[in-house]
Amino acid sequence: MREVEGKALKDIVQYGLKAVLDLLVPRRCIVCESALASSEKHLCRECLDDIPHTYYWLRKFNPMADKFNALIQEELERISLDGTHPYHEEYAYATALFFYRADSDYSHISRQLKYHSNIPAGKFFGQQLGARLARAEHLADVDAVIPIPLHWTRRWSRGYNQAEVIAREVATALGVNLRTDILERCRRTRTQTKLSIEGKAANVKGAFRVRPDIVQSSGSGTKKADASAISDLKHLLIIDDIFTTGSTALACYSALRDTFPPSFRISIATLGFVGEA
Ligand SMILES: [Zn+2]
Repeated sequence: MREVEGKALKDIVQYGLKAVLDLLVPRRCIVCESALASSEKHLCRECLDDIPHTYYWLRKFNPMADKFNALIQEELERISLDGTHPYHEEYAYATALFFYRADSDYSHISRQLKYHSNIPAGKFFGQQLGARLARAEHLADVDAVIPIPLHWTRRWSRGYNQAEVIAREVATALGVNLRTDILERCRRTRTQTKLSIEGKAANVKGAFRVRPDIVQSSGSGTKKADASAISDLKHLLIIDDIFTTGSTALACYSALRDTFPPSFRISIATLGFVGEA
């Protein structure tokens, strides 16, 4: 009984302290910048209610997945010698939490995480995404979550990988492992923001690879996945902050597909999708 009273008292003190702190240094909604109430986190109630959700997690087939699959098919045609696809690729699943527009105040959600080290906000939106992905039937068999890696020099200078912040929350929501040991960025690339569509694709092409310790080279020279490190996997979910042209997602997909046979499903989920509703 005394323990319960003690906990209640602690909650009251904590709540009171938070309210006082909010008065002294008001926390602001990252979208509209209005002062937040003690019960609000990162976004005010109105902005939270008005997030331009895609609802793509409810739809296997959606414009983001169509865009991603068109890129995959183009890539297959490019690598085939005689115009026929070298193998059949299943329709890849793709989803995002909200529609991203650079001129919308909702773009602050990913900017806060990427450029202002607002990791608590990144975790919050990672949880928002994760809770929705956990309800998606077609993602129910995801067994590992892979954040799009940063080159180690960029990770070192930024101190964290924004995709990993999101991916960690998604992995928790799905009850699966976060795997940062599979994929690596082997080439440092320029920031994608100021490049053309073609420039973006060329910039990230070949920038990723499955880590050499995961891959065993067979006698024929073709790469095979090391059975011990990945034998339990069937469905990988790539996580990034924003899906714009899809060229970064495709580069990761191609690197994974280079090692993982087509029977492994590779899906992608991001916070933002640059596309129309
Ligand atoms: Zn707001």
